[in-house]
Amino acid sequence: MSSARHTIVNPATEEPVRTVELAGLEATDEAIARAATAGPSWRAVAPADRGRLLRRFADLVGDHNEELARLEVANAGHTIGNARWEAGNVRDVLTFYSAAPERLHGKQIPVAGGIDVTFKEPLGVVGIIVPWNFPMPIAGWGFAPALAAGNTVVLKPAELTPLTALRLGELALEAGLPEGVFTVLPGKGSVVGARFVTHPAVRKVCFTGSTVVGQGIMRTAADQLKRVTLELGGKSANIVFADADLEAAAAAAPMSFLDNAGQDCCARSRILVERSVFDRFMGLFESAIDGVAVGDPADETSQMGPLVSAGQRETVRGFVEGSTEPVDVAFRGSAPTGAGWWYPPTVVLPASTSDRVWREEIFGPVVGVMPFDDEADAVAKANDTAYGLSGSIWTRDVGRALRVARGVEAGNLSVNSHSSVRYSTPFGGFKASGIGRELGPDALDAFTEVKNVFIDTTS
Ligand code: NAD
Repeated sequence: MSSARHTIVNPATEEPVRTVELAGLEATDEAIARAATAGPSWRAVAPADRGRLLRRFADLVGDHNEELARLEVANAGHTIGNARWEAGNVRDVLTFYSAAPERLHGKQIPVAGGIDVTFKEPLGVVGIIVPWNFPMPIAGWGFAPALAAGNTVVLKPAELTPLTALRLGELALEAGLPEGVFTVLPGKGSVVGARFVTHPAVRKVCFTGSTVVGQGIMRTAADQLKRVTLELGGKSANIVFADADLEAAAAAAPMSFLDNAGQDCCARSRILVERSVFDRFMGLFESAIDGVAVGDPADETSQMGPLVSAGQRETVRGFVEGSTEPVDVAFRGSAPTGAGWWYPPTVVLPASTSDRVWREEIFGPVVGVMPFDDEADAVAKANDTAYGLSGSIWTRDVGRALRVARGVEAGNLSVNSHSSVRYSTPFGGFKASGIGRELGPDALDAFTEVKNVFIDTTS
């Protein structure tokens, strides 16, 4: 049963791509019921066979890398290079977790009067809610460990970007995953997503999106003590010390906030530069931004594409041109004009740490730069935010790098790098950036309950 249809529009051309049927409440309940029915036989599949099915799914995703990537270019405006990486990431995440079914070990715990063992049990039906900024990887970070741990999954892509998720759902069936084990259900957040949270058969909701929606989900989930993993917004700091390789730090800074046109929860959207090298850094940074190729995302040489929608561009404009506060634009890069939701790389100098551009997540190609005086000031300024997702530290001093990394309240820090995501290491936020961890071995804990069984051996 569908409640509506949604036309997908190419963000680079504003041309329609395809029309997608949006599920209503009835279709959502049916999909959840199918997932609940499929649960017992999926968890009974021998671990090696469950692993084999996930590996076959991974291989099919790998075989269809170019098709999935082209679909994402058309749907989300991602550059073709990024989109290939994203499809490759889904393959890698599935491959990583395909080893998990045979490694979900429990423990044997020494106790008096018997034998005590623990089991890692699947939760049941998991509802996964995905945002529009990274439709493929964020879906995979949820469904791969959830399925590996023996859960069944209903996944809701964002309204704007359902195409790759729908294709992944088809590939799962082609790989041999039984009907009902993994269902992709496009629909509105207020209908399909909200139903995941209230439906009693859904035992866990895995949500990635805005902090405000995440807060609402957690509140509602509390009624059933439903498990949640929340991956929310960010306003991550990029801290550049005077002893850093300044050329390298400035060369890397543009793509740390321009990747995916800034629509990245890990974007290093606040740059903190030690005062003694501020002017030198800004000179190097400006020429690095000039070199960023903004244009047709299907072009192999493009580094940045358009924003996902007209609405998102208006939101970004509202922080700069439309702001009621004065915004000091230090410099801008270039962007195409005409059709497409383009916005140029923009560097602003906030007057104070209370400025909106410095405090709020913009989710566009806009960065603020501010000087700091010493290590303590850098850490204090980095932590002066509600968020705590990522961050970078540029220095040649290993001791300082570790001290500052321990001091910054964020889940994912990198030293002399802006890398935040590897499929084998945990990813998630402190403070308002979320609850729980995805990826790596930690994610399996988020999709299992520990059961303790005691066997009396005294009689
Ligand atoms: P959003 O919160 O509006 O939507 C995210 C998803 O939630 C969509 O699928 C949407 O349909 C659904 N949704 C909306 N209202 C809902 C409701 N009431 N109940 C259930 N589901 C609902 O966010 P967005 O604008 O799509 O994505 C951008 C945001 O996501 C940014 O704030 C960004 O920082 C965040 N994000 C975080 C991470 C991370 O890993 N921490 C990764 C990517 C994006």
